Amino acid sequence: MTLLCVPIFVESTEQAKREVMAAAEAGADIVELRIDSLKEAVPVGGFARAIVTCRPTWEGGRSELADEERIFLLQAVSKSGAAYVDVELETYRRHPRISERFDVPLIVSSHDFKGRPEKLHNLFVELNAIAGGVNKIVWMARSIRDNLEAFELFESEKPTIALCMGEAGLISRVLAKKFGAFLTFASLRDESATAPGQVTIADIKRLYRWDAINANTKVYGVVASPVMHSMSPAIHNAGFDAVGHDGVYLPLLVNPGYESFKAFMESFLAFEPLHLSGLSITLPHKENALRYLKEKGAQVEELAERIGAVNTIVIDRAAGGLPLRGFNTDYAAILDTITATLNITRDELANKRIAILGAGGTGRTAVAALANLGATVVVYNRTFYRAEELAREFTGQKGKVVAARMEKLCDSCCEIYINTTSVGMHPNVDQSPVGDTPPKFTAHTLVFDTIYNPVETKLLQQAKSAGAKTVGGIEMFVRQAAGQFEAWTGTPAPLDLFKRVVQSKLQK
Ligand code: NAP
Repeated sequence: MTLLCVPIFVESTEQAKREVMAAAEAGADIVELRIDSLKEAVPVGGFARAIVTCRPTWEGGRSELADEERIFLLQAVSKSGAAYVDVELETYRRHPRISERFDVPLIVSSHDFKGRPEKLHNLFVELNAIAGGVNKIVWMARSIRDNLEAFELFESEKPTIALCMGEAGLISRVLAKKFGAFLTFASLRDESATAPGQVTIADIKRLYRWDAINANTKVYGVVASPVMHSMSPAIHNAGFDAVGHDGVYLPLLVNPGYESFKAFMESFLAFEPLHLSGLSITLPHKENALRYLKEKGAQVEELAERIGAVNTIVIDRAAGGLPLRGFNTDYAAILDTITATLNITRDELANKRIAILGAGGTGRTAVAALANLGATVVVYNRTFYRAEELAREFTGQKGKVVAARMEKLCDSCCEIYINTTSVGMHPNVDQSPVGDTPPKFTAHTLVFDTIYNPVETKLLQQAKSAGAKTVGGIEMFVRQAAGQFEAWTGTPAPLDLFKRVVQSKLQK
């Protein structure tokens, strides 16, 4: 069983006792009492299963004591009831008989806050050769691929802690349980983290499904840079909980650029014990995903190719042959948001005249989806030539696509308006892509703003006050996630739960 350990910096017996109780209430199996700041022993044992650590400054800690004083302090504190004592590999090298001075097993640890240790393999061989106790090796992830090396270290017979620090290393902390680590660390609160990238115990338990993770758990994630703002882990993990799917969904920080994306895909796909089963792809990697799948000869949905972006990858090894499939759930989410709001079929969209505001990635997706159904689409964009390019590319498919200047918007007479620009997005909530003089909206108009933060944009307020029907970006966001969820799990997505999760995240 992999233990969930909460580190606590000890300042006094009372404060430590309070935090130990809070850690136990939050679900910790063990605490690490960091006594770096103590000058003399205080009784901290007896109230929890504890690791006692006095980390010197030269290993990233706060203790300036000399070796002998530090070891003496560790002895004095650990006598009051510790389960383990942590000493640095360097301390162990200087005092090879140090284990004889303690009644409890040692965790012998090595930390590198700059990057992957140059001689990682040699270091680990040295740790492994120490009789008894636990190996601990921690380093700052240079890229997400470092996590795979950490997972490989769990093949050791000896109990091992192997973790990568930083945002890219988050997955090593959560998946420690999948790979049978001795423990992982999680902080009591954001500000009490003892290492970069450490997640809180509340997040590891609830957001990342700690209790459900086992050796066979399938791994999913969102590939992005930056990634920590993404709401997708909260949505998909809540969904897995709701339908009882044995999966965990993680933020996967992959640096910008095709080579980084390709290196990530190649290494993660080849690492079979990971059970990588599905990926959401977002900025800046949607085009990279399409290119990678095409290079591999994988199956790619036709419209995703025309749009030029893949936002979903399914990895299905059970299917045999090449296990990769790529598609785009954004365009279906746009169509379904409109049809569900108007209570019409997709075919009925062919008779509509639709204004798309914006000619960026989302605008392109909307144009491709609607033109493919035969709708008449007018693209308005601040930079006119981009609207013209889009119109040229997609007209004559089934529908008609024309470009128009933003200033002409007020003359237009469309039944549906879709905002795909970023105008009105938080924090610029007092802006509207139509300015202060919106086109003539009526009770027969639908105004769809793809922005989801704020939930009700100024554009939607303008439309509402003119009596038009409105729908916001949350609807699209949860529908694109639902398409992914269904492709991965084969189970209908709990759409209402997804909406509640997004709404509660946005309210924070
Ligand atoms: P993008 O590719 O960067 O395109 C941005 C678009 O906004 C361009 O057409 C740009 O016009 C226009 N724009 C930006 N600032 C403007 C301004 N001050 N005045 C007028 N036009 C302006 O971005 P994207 O990826 O398509 O995302 C656009 C929006 O879609 C985002 O705000 C996001 O909220 C929304 N979105 C929603 C979802 C969802 O699931 N609900 C998913 C993805 C995106 P120029 O060509 O003139 O620069």
